[in-house]
Amino acid sequence: MYLTSPSAIRAIAAKHGFTFKKGLGQNFLTSGEVLEHIADAAEIEYGAVEIGPGFGVLTAALAERAEKVVAVEIDERLIPVLAETLMEYDNVKVINADVMKTDMAELLKSEFGDKRVSIAANLPYYITTPIITMLLESRLPVKNIVVMVQKEVAERISAEPGTKDYGAISVLCRYFTKPELICVVPAELFVPKPKVDSAVLRLKVLEKPSVSVSDEKRFFRTVKAAFSQRRKTLLNCLASNFPYGKPALTEALESVGIDPRRRGETLSLEEFAALSEKL
Ligand code: SAM
Repeated sequence: MYLTSPSAIRAIAAKHGFTFKKGLGQNFLTSGEVLEHIADAAEIEYGAVEIGPGFGVLTAALAERAEKVVAVEIDERLIPVLAETLMEYDNVKVINADVMKTDMAELLKSEFGDKRVSIAANLPYYITTPIITMLLESRLPVKNIVVMVQKEVAERISAEPGTKDYGAISVLCRYFTKPELICVVPAELFVPKPKVDSAVLRLKVLEKPSVSVSDEKRFFRTVKAAFSQRRKTLLNCLASNFPYGKPALTEALESVGIDPRRRGETLSLEEFAALSEKL
């Protein structure tokens, strides 16, 4: 697309009197190659949903591959810009809304019916984890979620148990999806240039969660509790988050073969599942 260069991005911004809002995470991608990677990684069958189209560079790449694209953009100043940059695509619908206040399940149903869609986004940094959490917890009927996030967030999401990056978001993503690193994207490829590098991740949504639990709420409560104070033992973390005494918690942990002195970040998904069943 013609907008994939810093000078083209700056020119369209100048033409529309558009100023980038840091508070909305407006760092626009200028690499055609990375856009193609994101759009390819989405493996679109029929439809695609984009969060935060900005000037529409990724939207256009998605529109080339999809029957229909729905893009949700919070910044109303971008709506007339998108009308111009996406003029040649009649398969794109732009919705001016905050994705966090949008019922995504309802939107998918009304726009795509029963057809499975892929979600793609160069996510705004300030709200990356809440958006990923919302998309996963909404249990949307989607095939892939391909997101550009800060490199350190990508490392946290794909972290293995026992590593310093492993946390509640790693467990959440591994519970619902298979995370795959697609590519690392240097900060120089954005306008304005952010402070840190980014990475593209594909979260391949699993047919069913990777471990089986009888009560998902309790499973995620257990995970959150285990990571609530990283320097404390699992026993202490659980004791400050559940209304059970330490002797009962010790018994529960030992009955599923987990040493109470271990730290939350060493537990595998299977261990979290077994523990939450006991609690
Ligand atoms: N897709 C464009 C690209 O790749 O160059 C822009 C990506 S920019 C990192 C993030 C975009 O998300 C911006 O257009 C911003 O206005 C939009 N955005 C920020 N918060 C949002 C929200 N809560 N809901 C929908 N869009 C949002």
